[in-house]
Amino acid sequence: AKHHSVALVVGVTGIVGNSLAEILPLSDTPGGPWKVYGVARRPRPPWNADHPIHYIQCDVSDSQQTNEKLSDLTDVTHIFYVAWTSRPTEAENSDINGRMLLNVLNTVIPIAPNLLHICLQTGRKHYMGPFELLGKIKPHEPPFHEDLPRLKVPNFYYTQEDILLAEVNKKQGLTWSVHRPGVIFGFSPYSLMNIVVSLCAYASICKHQGQALKFPGSQAAWDGFCDASDADLIAEHEIWAAVDPFAKNQAFNCSNGDVFKWKHLWEVLAEKFGLEYSAEFDVKLTLEEMMKGKDWVWDEIVKEKNLVPTKLEEIGGWWFADIILGLNELHLDSMNKNKEYGFVGFRNSKTSFGSWIDKIKSYRIVL
Ligand code: NDP
Repeated sequence: AKHHSVALVVGVTGIVGNSLAEILPLSDTPGGPWKVYGVARRPRPPWNADHPIHYIQCDVSDSQQTNEKLSDLTDVTHIFYVAWTSRPTEAENSDINGRMLLNVLNTVIPIAPNLLHICLQTGRKHYMGPFELLGKIKPHEPPFHEDLPRLKVPNFYYTQEDILLAEVNKKQGLTWSVHRPGVIFGFSPYSLMNIVVSLCAYASICKHQGQALKFPGSQAAWDGFCDASDADLIAEHEIWAAVDPFAKNQAFNCSNGDVFKWKHLWEVLAEKFGLEYSAEFDVKLTLEEMMKGKDWVWDEIVKEKNLVPTKLEEIGGWWFADIILGLNELHLDSMNKNKEYGFVGFRNSKTSFGSWIDKIKSYRIVL
C-alpha cells in the first residue's frame, strides 16, 4: 500500500509515544495512511508489540549510533519527538536533552527530502521552571497561556525549542509545533513520569498488605481544582498540528479542557482496587517514605499474580507523584489558543483516569 505520510516517533515506548504508536496506524487517523518508525533504547516490550510499526532500538544521545540507525529513513515526512532523559541538574538536562534532539534532527533533516513537520513535546514546566526550582522561584500567574515570556532560569525545554527552530529554519518549507501538556494520564510502564502507573502500584501494595489507601498529598491538591492531559489526547493534538495547515510554527498547551479534584480521582482509584481510603493533612505523607523497602512486596505481588515482570523502582515514580499530589499552588493552563486555531479535542479527566487504570490492569502491569 502507498503511504501518504511517514512518521518517526522518537520515544515510542513512552507515555505519549505508545499512544502515537497505537493511533497513527489506524485507518481513520488524519493525514494517513501512516507508516510509522518508532525509536527507543530498550528492546521492544510486549505491550508495544501489537502496534504495526517499525521498531528501531537506538540511543539518540549517541550521535554516531543515531546516524547509523536512522540514516536510511529517507521517506520520513513527520517527526514526533516525545522523549527525554533525566539528569540531576537542569544544566545537565539541557545539555543531554538538547543533544538528543539535535542528533535526531542532524541525521534526519538532510536525508529525508519529503520531511514536512516536526512536533516537539515539552510541558507545563515551561511556565513554572524546572523541578529543581519548584517553590524557589515565582512561576507565571496561572492560567498559563502560550504567549507568556520565558522565565529567566535554565530550562531544557527552552534549549530544545531553540535547537528546533534553528534546525527547522535551515530547510525551506519545514514547519514545527511545540506541545505543552500538564501531568499526563497514560499507559506506559517505561515512562519516567507516569502518575497513574505509580498510583496503581501503590494501591496494589496497600491491597496486598491489607491497608487503606492513604492520600499522600496536600489539602490544596485534594480540595482544589486540578487538570491533566490524557496521553491519547496529546497524540491526537500532535497529529492535528502535524497535518493541519493552520497549526504550523506555533506552541500550544495541551490539557483535557476540564478540571477535577484529587479527592474524586482517589475515590476512583480506591474503588478499582477494592480499598478503603483516607486523607489527613496534619502529618505530611510522601510515597517516597511510605514505599521505602517495599521492593520485595512488589516482587511477591508480581509472582503471585503472574504480572508482567517489573521492578518497583521502575514503575513506582514516587518522586513525581509526590510533587504532583503535594503541590500547594495549583497551576491550570488555558486551552483558548487551541480553540482559536481549531483544535477542540478534550477528555473527561475522571473517565480518562479510570480507563487508564483499566488498561494498565488489563495488560497485567498491576492487578
Ligand atoms: P517518557 O518518559 O514517558 O518516555 C520517554 C521515551 O523516550 C521512552 O520511549 C524511552 O524509552 C525513550 N528514550 C529515552 N531516552 C532515550 C534515548 N537516549 N534514545 C532513544 N530513546 C530514548 O516521556 P514523556 O512523554 O513523559 O516525556 C516527553 C516530554 O513530555 C518531556 O519533555 C517531559 O518533561 C514532558 N512531560 C511529561 C509529563 C508526564 O506526566 N509524563 C507531563 C508534562 C510534560 P527507553 O528508556 O527504552 O529509551
